[in-house]
Amino acid sequence: MFDALTDRLGGILDRLTRRGALTEADVAEAMREVRRALIEADVALEVARDFIDRVKARAVGVDVVKSVTPGQMVVKIVHDELVAMLGSEAEGISLAAAAPVPILMVGLQGSGKTTSTAKIARRLVTREKRKVLMASLDTRRPAAMEQLATLGQQTGVPTLPIVAGQSAVQIARRAMEAGRLGGYDVVLLDTAGRTTIDDALMAEVVEVKRAVNPHEVLLVADALTGQDAIVTARAFDQALGVTGIVLTRLDGDGRGGAALSMRAVTGKPIKLVGTGESFDAVDEFDPQRVANRILG
Ligand code: GDP
Repeated sequence: MFDALTDRLGGILDRLTRRGALTEADVAEAMREVRRALIEADVALEVARDFIDRVKARAVGVDVVKSVTPGQMVVKIVHDELVAMLGSEAEGISLAAAAPVPILMVGLQGSGKTTSTAKIARRLVTREKRKVLMASLDTRRPAAMEQLATLGQQTGVPTLPIVAGQSAVQIARRAMEAGRLGGYDVVLLDTAGRTTIDDALMAEVVEVKRAVNPHEVLLVADALTGQDAIVTARAFDQALGVTGIVLTRLDGDGRGGAALSMRAVTGKPIKLVGTGESFDAVDEFDPQRVANRILG
């Protein structure tokens, strides 16, 4: 994760710290290099530009060039601004609502939505000792419903029995009713995925949202698609109002552009990241830890 960026930033900042005295021109040159490194990591242009502007403004403000350890001060500012760009605080999934808490999982087909639903369910069961029910609302793809049922069996998380012929809204209502009757804490609703964002998909998810009033609407996006993941997040947010992002396949993402720009571009927190295919391969996204990792 972020390997190339870590190498590049490490090199640039090492050179700065080794130099001792620094001029403003040295700092400006280093920041140009940082900006290039961010853009090569597929960070959105405006995010990279804002980041550099903030670092430069602070570097001038604290009189970096006159300090005893100017390079280290720049590194500290870069670190702080990176944390701020990533969202400052880790934000987990909120369950602060009346049980059963409805959570809507949305996203494009293949983004890892169904796998993430099962991962989240298992995490809530094992870590937070919650009673969780999962339901697939994918009425057009019976295979998707069966996939969730299989994942339920593998993870030991109950799934809503499949009833043929029901609409997504009917299934969502049935899931909430089963959640109430069964004393569940959380109901995870895995909506239908599509290969592209289309109006029919959005209309259906909007209808489901109205029917169950979810406490969280989590957009699942594939980190490997880079800036496309951000375009997807914006489209879903505009149509639905997303409360958080689950960014999958971070394990294969050497560049990191989606993870780095998602918060700044969409204003939505990355709540969880997928780090592999196994059920345990899910982590919270902690801006502080991510910044530490990137800066080595
Ligand atoms: P959906 O169509 O959005 O529901 O996607 P699936 O949940 O079926 O996932 C598609 C594929 O991506 C499956 O083979 C998953 O095992 C894989 N996958 C999902 N999340 C991750 C992840 O975080 N890392 C990796 N390496 N693979 C993942």
